[in-house]
Amino acid sequence: MALTACPDCNGKVSDKAFACPSCGHPMNSGKGRSQWPAIIGGVAGTYISANAVVTVVLGSVMMIAFAAIMIAAVMSS
Ligand SMILES: [Zn+2]
Repeated sequence: MALTACPDCNGKVSDKAFACPSCGHPMNSGKGRSQWPAIIGGVAGTYISANAVVTVVLGSVMMIAFAAIMIAAVMSS
């Protein structure tokens, strides 16, 4: 494996590394790294985030409703 210079701190970084071990600068331009994970991640991220908004909203409403029922049950006992 080859070493390359970190663009941020000029430290020695493996071209297989995901990030600089010295400063944590992300090393995404490594040779031979497929673009597919990024593309799939982008598509999946868009799809998941659209559903995640609905899930979070529904989840919040369900939690509030559940909490209200529990509080009412505790108060009436
Ligand atoms: Zn660095």
